[in-house]
Amino acid sequence: MKIEELRVAAYTVPTDAPESDGTLCWDQTTLVLVQARSGTTTGIGYTYADTGTARLIQDLLAPAVLGMDPMHIPEAWGKMIALVRNLGCKGPGAMAISAVDNALWDLKAKLCSLPLVSLLGACRKTLPIYGSGGFTSYSKEQLQRQLGGWAEQGLTRVKMKVGRHPGLDLQRVHAAREAVGNNVELFVDANSAYSRKQALYYMKLFAGECDVRWMEQPLAPEDRAGMRWLREHGPARMELADGEYGYGLSSFREMMDGVDVVMADATRCCGITGFLKVGALCEAFHLPLSAHCAPLLHLHPCCALPAVRHAEYFHDHVRIERLFFDGVPEPVHGELAPNFSAPGLGIAFRPEAAEPFRQSF
Ligand SMILES: [Mg+2]
Repeated sequence: MKIEELRVAAYTVPTDAPESDGTLCWDQTTLVLVQARSGTTTGIGYTYADTGTARLIQDLLAPAVLGMDPMHIPEAWGKMIALVRNLGCKGPGAMAISAVDNALWDLKAKLCSLPLVSLLGACRKTLPIYGSGGFTSYSKEQLQRQLGGWAEQGLTRVKMKVGRHPGLDLQRVHAAREAVGNNVELFVDANSAYSRKQALYYMKLFAGECDVRWMEQPLAPEDRAGMRWLREHGPARMELADGEYGYGLSSFREMMDGVDVVMADATRCCGITGFLKVGALCEAFHLPLSAHCAPLLHLHPCCALPAVRHAEYFHDHVRIERLFFDGVPEPVHGELAPNFSAPGLGIAFRPEAAEPFRQSF
């Protein structure tokens, strides 16, 4: 068996409203899709990145992976890691590898006529999720409608953005608590907007006044000492979470003593292959793992990793995944279930739906 074709495409989809978090504003999201074919079987994988990442796959990774055995994913993975040595195996390099690696996992499972979760070995049949959005660009009404909507849908955890205007954060968090009631866990994500002291101040305030249980990425991801300090001094009922900018296994190792929950993203951390390694590392450090964004892509690997606690059901990506793919599961009682009777990721790409958003690169 050989990987005979590797096609890459990029699609940019406008958001349904202006979106911002503590440190960034955006109005569109780009999905980079890889289709890997062996014989008559095609595997699909993707990352959320940009057209430059698509170009990197097309020019550098695709020619190297062609002709390799689709059963030998670690061999292809190692070759791709070696190829980006001079570019750096972080950011676009890691995201490009992720898209290819993810497509190879879908391909291999389809070639084996197994759902990916069964190929990996399931440890659970459903995956708890949390609703994620609550952008700082939203009005109070938008914020309450979105978070309250998830609670009505049966989700038991929701996350909102904070940090753009710290002085307004507490009243926004109160509004969110009012919308979801007292039986839903409320999370906040500051996307590195706070200083160390500011983060500690708001952690105590959010935990004490609104029972917020999770503070995500309050500081710059590189500020490991700051995260360790916050973990020691923050409220006991509030967990510190970080890891969405983890790319290689070493970076995850370095963050372990500054977080209560590790986050990882298979569209960034060198694909499902990298994600599985992070899962094992979390077990070794007795820390839970939470998948960042791209819920559809994480569903199968998360149901095969004992360290996983839940996955992020991110508003932007849910919209795009529903539009671009058939076979996208809907949440039931706050959980997603993989399709155990379909091979691979259990999804089919809808080219006609994606075509209007295609970008050249
Ligand atoms: Mg985040």
